[in-house]
Amino acid sequence: MIFLLAANLGLVAAQTRQPARRSAPVRNRAIANIVREIDARNVEATIRKLVSFGTRNTLSEQNDPKRGIGAARDWLYAEFLKAAEASNGRMTVEKQSYEQAKAPRVPEPTIITNVVATLKGSQPEATDRIYVVSGHYDSMCNSPTDAKCDAPGANDDASGTAAVLEMARVMAKYEFDATIVFMAVAGEEQSLLGSTHFAEQAKQKSWNVDAMFTNDIAGNTLGGNGVRDRNHLRVFSEGVPSNETAAEATTRRSVGGENDSASRQLARFIKEIGDAFVPQMKVMMIYRRDRYGRGGDHIPFLERGYPAVRFTEVNEDFRHQHQNVRVENGVQFGDLPEFVDFAYVANVARVNAASLAALAWAPSRPKGVTIVAQRLSNDTELRWDANKEPDLAGYEIVWRDTTAPVWTDAKPVGNVTSFTMKGMSKDNYFFGLRSVDKDGNKSPVTYPRPQARNQ
Ligand SMILES: [Zn+2]
Repeated sequence: MIFLLAANLGLVAAQTRQPARRSAPVRNRAIANIVREIDARNVEATIRKLVSFGTRNTLSEQNDPKRGIGAARDWLYAEFLKAAEASNGRMTVEKQSYEQAKAPRVPEPTIITNVVATLKGSQPEATDRIYVVSGHYDSMCNSPTDAKCDAPGANDDASGTAAVLEMARVMAKYEFDATIVFMAVAGEEQSLLGSTHFAEQAKQKSWNVDAMFTNDIAGNTLGGNGVRDRNHLRVFSEGVPSNETAAEATTRRSVGGENDSASRQLARFIKEIGDAFVPQMKVMMIYRRDRYGRGGDHIPFLERGYPAVRFTEVNEDFRHQHQNVRVENGVQFGDLPEFVDFAYVANVARVNAASLAALAWAPSRPKGVTIVAQRLSNDTELRWDANKEPDLAGYEIVWRDTTAPVWTDAKPVGNVTSFTMKGMSKDNYFFGLRSVDKDGNKSPVTYPRPQARNQ
């Protein structure tokens, strides 16, 4: 908070030469309010309710009102509808269903349903910019195709689903510039089916999904390694984009950039916002797409060119994931609610919500950002397209040493579409550009691609 505040005041002072004011930007105060309103008791109630459906296996009963994935789907739908009541009609809720054909973990054609709550952005220039946050509400025991066993799925992934529902409840009454989609998907354990369906629809309809967060296995704070950690949260981001083209790979081999995908910039953004607004939870950036041998609902988005990250606890306990509920040699197996730290899940939701709010209030990432490359010079010239938001204040050039993990320096350059950093060679630093609005909200950084000077 203090860091952001100082940065914002610094920008105001640099642009207007007025003495720095002491008050925080109004919208940053709103982010603090959102963080405060997220309640661990709601998170706990949601997780216990989802567990009460016995199993939420994607192949389980769809029409039983008490047991199976259908009951969980209908309960979630009703809860998102309740959340939407506070939105003055800006939040709409739908069941997005399709029939999944036979597949390795789907023995017969099965209806897969995502529950999708869309909070429409209020700024005409930003309303088509979409941020998606999801958890998966399906669960499994030992076998992904066992639809009968108890599969409480308290941590995997009632934790992520409860975080998303709580965000929807709190954020529905706030008005954002851009659109936020709160989503509970199914078929994750069947190979990311629900999220793949959504991501493919988004691609087919050319939706501008500017970032996607998945929350999955985000509530266990006592690892199988015996380590108790309530204060760290992993954010996985890929370095080399899953959809990188051959031409982009050639550029990367030549001048680097393997640490500067849009998803990596998103992770840096989340770390900055999360650490500022939720100081009790430190974001631990993991520079890889996901854990060894594991996957998540961010991957279908990455494969279609959408920036995406995964939120997960730091120390997992595999005795409580994908296990039949049983006691063996005195050890309790199974994904039961007694192994979920509800206060921790609430903090995960807070990091998500603060980051989403900051994204949805900020201008879009600068587009068409290039670094003039076909000229030998010890200066660095950046060019970009003008943003279209009416509340845009200008841009900041950021930079870091080539070996640094995060952006270390920033320079406000005003409302222009090119700037030359005198005496700073593009060969010696990584540069990036972000946009800033009049309230001090900043976009994630865009990493420039090289371009010839006369293009
Ligand atoms: Zn999962």
